[in-house]
Amino acid sequence: MDAAKYIWMNGKFIAWDDAKTHVLSHTLHYGNGVIEGTKAYKTKKGYAIFRLNEHTKRLKESAKMTLMDIPYSVEEMNQAQIDLIKKNEFEGDNVYIRPFAFLGYGVMGVYHKDAPVETAIAAWEWGAYLGEEGLQKGIKLKIASMTRPANTSNMGKAKAVANYLNSQMAKYEAIDCGYDEALLLDDQGYVAEASGACFFMVKDGEIISPPNDNSLASITQKTVIEVAQDMGYKVTRRRISREEIYVADEAFLTGTAAEITPVASVDARKVGIGSRGEITEKIQSTYFDIVFGRNSKYEHYLTYID
Ligand code: PMP
Repeated sequence: MDAAKYIWMNGKFIAWDDAKTHVLSHTLHYGNGVIEGTKAYKTKKGYAIFRLNEHTKRLKESAKMTLMDIPYSVEEMNQAQIDLIKKNEFEGDNVYIRPFAFLGYGVMGVYHKDAPVETAIAAWEWGAYLGEEGLQKGIKLKIASMTRPANTSNMGKAKAVANYLNSQMAKYEAIDCGYDEALLLDDQGYVAEASGACFFMVKDGEIISPPNDNSLASITQKTVIEVAQDMGYKVTRRRISREEIYVADEAFLTGTAAEITPVASVDARKVGIGSRGEITEKIQSTYFDIVFGRNSKYEHYLTYID
């Protein structure tokens, strides 16, 4: 990771190296923290943050779900992200923003009501999450041996750090087996989501993505659905079984970091042509036009920092 100059922490900008916490911070032991993943792109009018308000709102809602009270409003945190991008004087095309809240030092034991809530925002230059080659040629996906926890047992809709233990196990397994990314099924055997992205497939011209019953309510997925419909595609939200993926014409992942990453294969099966499909390519290039401010129709999703 490339360090930047400043991190915003509890209302102040501090040097990157000074953004530290005690080893007895509550979250390190019991796992209650919430994160966001937001992105700023360098457009011809300077940096623009994509769907900023929705990301910040989701952070606040994740915190509400996990019983943490972030003492900053959505507006204050939006402004902090804008200021952070300015102050860091980034140069690259892609800047990833990580707003988060965790429980700090002072209380031990599972009951967390009195643990102090620490709020921070970091940003750094970060290129393609699944690699430049992945964006062009597609990635190898493995269906994970572990399922995504059922919504009866955790806060699946929260972007809670605790949910990423499951994602980490699945991702590690996939890479260890020679794949690039893991796809998790739900406890009924239907597609839930990838370890850090949502899943789409294309069959006979129809674009299909599962409902968010067992996944994060993804902002990129929502964007892709809107854009694909505007492009004239039929988009359906319904459960997808493992066998359907194996015989899909195309498949791709969506996420703030993953952007639109084509899927070349799943388990031992090639998906479609075994590379980036035609519809995937169109959606991907439209997405990049939008986030880089080259498509005025969706400019309302951009917050320019200058
Ligand atoms: N699912 C998981 C588990 C994720 O970590 C992410 C990335 N935030 C997504 C889906 C995609 O969400 P978004 O499009 O809002 O980034």
